Amino acid sequence: MEASLQATYDTVLQRNQGEPEFHQAVREVFESLETLRGRHPEYEAHGILMRLCEPERQLIFRVPWVDDEGTVRINRGFRVEYNSALGPYKGGLRFHPSVNLGIVKFLGFEQIFKNSLTGLPIGGGKGGSDFDPHGRSDGEIMRFCQSFMTELHRHIGEYTDVPAGDIGVGSREIGYLFGQYKRLTNRYEAGVLTGKGLDWGGSLVRTEATGYGAAIFANEMLRAREASFDGRRVGVSGSGNVAIYAIEKTQQLGGIPITASDSSGYVVDEQGIDLDLLRQIKEVERGRIHEYAERRGGGARFVKDGSVWDVPVDIALPSATQNELDEKDAKTLASNGVKVVAEGANMPCTPEAVEVFRMAGVGFGPGKAANAGGVATSALEMQQNASRDTWTFDYTEARLTEIMRNIHSTCLTTADEVGRPGDYVVGANVAGFRKVANAMIALGVV
Ligand code: NDP
Repeated sequence: MEASLQATYDTVLQRNQGEPEFHQAVREVFESLETLRGRHPEYEAHGILMRLCEPERQLIFRVPWVDDEGTVRINRGFRVEYNSALGPYKGGLRFHPSVNLGIVKFLGFEQIFKNSLTGLPIGGGKGGSDFDPHGRSDGEIMRFCQSFMTELHRHIGEYTDVPAGDIGVGSREIGYLFGQYKRLTNRYEAGVLTGKGLDWGGSLVRTEATGYGAAIFANEMLRAREASFDGRRVGVSGSGNVAIYAIEKTQQLGGIPITASDSSGYVVDEQGIDLDLLRQIKEVERGRIHEYAERRGGGARFVKDGSVWDVPVDIALPSATQNELDEKDAKTLASNGVKVVAEGANMPCTPEAVEVFRMAGVGFGPGKAANAGGVATSALEMQQNASRDTWTFDYTEARLTEIMRNIHSTCLTTADEVGRPGDYVVGANVAGFRKVANAMIALGVV
């Protein structure tokens, strides 16, 4: 890295020890910013990088709740309000045992640039808890969400900070969180949370938006290479919100998704994933992925050990979690002839994997561009809440498609402009950064 970037990065490391995912996210952005070298002395003069790396506010709080046996449980809650230069903090809540401050900061940092890329007026934030929802009853989930919101409510608001879902937080959890917010504040403030149910302020297409958006982005990448999804084998990891709707849109675009996974293993279904069955098992029954192979029959198989990326595919949409696709996986995918990889999850590919794709000429769409459809549609939900209006599915999906196409072309145009044609990572980071940096300069040192 260039000396001044390296010095800032070293300071970030020193001030944020023991947070490797956060370091990884910062490093990737800094490496992209090298392409701006010498062009924008004003960014240095205004201390933009150091200010960007330091969240505006970091909240850590106790979340006490009582389980079904009457035992008192304690979890830790987080909300990192990262950057509000472009609008209220916006980003999801993650409930997963791996959540800690470093994970929330990495996700919040990424969110700043992603939200900027959407072109919509939203700042960056993220939150969550180390609570594990797996195996918890509905009553336990509700009590946990109520306790979490009892603290969080004083920090959020439709003009301040607007959380949404992420891993472990879907419309059920958003419902319990919203109900408690409404009770505590005595306000029906629909715009305070997104990902709401359709009967109480939610937007059509929000549930589908991240997965749909990732498939639409991959389709644009294919079109830029004069290719398409038509008849192509598609590898998808995960079997949650993002994965399910990435599979659905891929099928609509003519691709054949043949894999899905969870933390217990993966399934391969050469006939193409049966989406109704997958949904029944994962969304309705909240079951495990091996049940898919057992109930599907016809050659679908469950693999407990090994990597879903061992399966030869033309297009890969990693949609589970961070750092799930490493260098070895990337080499396997490349040698099996993968053409395009678009991240449905946040940072699922390690930096070494991304380098393998770059060297092999595989198109690589980073999460902050490829999965921005979710937060973009959240912003559309906020627009509908503010105007007390509801839009049709077709209209909202058309808006999502337009946003994804714009992000795709912005990435390519920016990459060209800074001398890295075809590099979506550089394009996304530089374009996302410039808008936030310019706004920060305009707003003064705050
Ligand atoms: P869900 O909770 O709905 O699904 C997550 C899926 O990933 C589950 O199948 C889960 O399996 C699997 N998974 C989680 N951790 C691991 C792990 N360590 N190893 C293997 N599999 C794992 O979450 P989402 O689909 O909402 O989120 C998936 C990714 O997409 C995350 O990176 C999230 O940040 C990102 N994202 C989500 C957005 C959204 O709108 N929901 C928006 C933008 C990005 P299991 O049940 O076994 O844990």
